[in-house]
Amino acid sequence: MSILKDKVALVTGAGSGIGREVAIKYAAEGAQVIVSDIAEKGGNSVVEEILAAGGKAVFIKADTSKAETNEALVNEIIERFGALHIACNNAGIGGPSAPAGEYPVEAWDKVIAVNLSGVFYGMRYQIPAILKSGGGNIVNMASILGKVGFAGSSAYVAAKHGVIGLTEAAAVEYGTKGIRINAVGPGFIKTPLVESSMDEESRKALVALHPMGRLGESAEVAELVLWLSSEKASFVTGAYYNVDGGYLAR
Ligand code: NAP
Repeated sequence: MSILKDKVALVTGAGSGIGREVAIKYAAEGAQVIVSDIAEKGGNSVVEEILAAGGKAVFIKADTSKAETNEALVNEIIERFGALHIACNNAGIGGPSAPAGEYPVEAWDKVIAVNLSGVFYGMRYQIPAILKSGGGNIVNMASILGKVGFAGSSAYVAAKHGVIGLTEAAAVEYGTKGIRINAVGPGFIKTPLVESSMDEESRKALVALHPMGRLGESAEVAELVLWLSSEKASFVTGAYYNVDGGYLAR
C-alpha cells in the first residue's frame, strides 16, 4: 500500500530521532521526501537509507529558527518538485534544566526560536505553498509538555504549549481551505535528545512516569504522524494526540 503516493512531503529535524522515522515512513508510503535538518551528516545518512530501500528523498539543509531559511527551503522545494503537500514541523531542542527564576535568558530565546518560532516560520511559508499545490496537511511536533509542566524546563514547556495553540489557530483558519493542521505529543522517547543528557537514575525516574513502564520508540511516534498525514485522517484537524505510554493519564 502507498498511502502517500505522488505526495511531496517535508520533514524538519529529519536527520535524527523521531524526524528520521517520520521521513522513512513517509518514503515507504510512496512520498517524495525532503529530509531537512541543521545537521548535514544525519540528514544525508537518512537520505541514503531511504534511497537504499527504493524510496525517494533529498537532503536540504535548513535552520528552522530563522524565517528566511524557512522561506528559502519552501522555495527550493517548489522549484525542484513543483509542489508541497505535507509538512512535519519536527525540529526541536531540549535546552538546559533550571528553574524559571534562574533560567538563562539566552537559552530561553534559543528554545523559543527553534521550538515555537520555528514552527510558526515553517507554517508561514508552507501554508501558501500547500494552498497552491491543491491542499494537504501539516503535523507539528508538540510534546506531553505542551499540556503539563515539568520542573526545570520552562522554555520547552512554554514553547510546546505554544505549538498546540498555534496548531489550533491555524487549523481554524484553514479548515475550509483544504489544509488539515494537527499536533502530536510524544511522551519521553528514546532519542539522542533525551538519552544524551540522562544518567541511569534519571532514566528510571522518567520510565516511572509512564504507566506502560518504558520509554517510547521513535517509530511509535512516526506511526501516528503518518496516519495524521494521510487521507485516513481526512476529518481530523486542530487536534492534539498523545503518544505517551499513558503519561498524561496519570
Ligand atoms: P533529536 O534526536 O535531537 O533530533 C532533532 C533533530 O533536529 C536533530 O538532527 C537536530 O540537529 C535537529 N535540529 C535542531 N535544531 C534545529 C534547527 N534549528 N533547525 C533544523 N534542525 C534542527 O530529537 P528528537 O527527540 O527526535 O525530537 C524531535 C522532536 O520531538 C522535537 O521537536 C522534540 O521537542 C519532540 N519531542 C521529543 C521527545 C523525546 O522524548 N525525544 C518527546 C516529546 C517531543 P542537532 O542534533 O544538530 O541539534
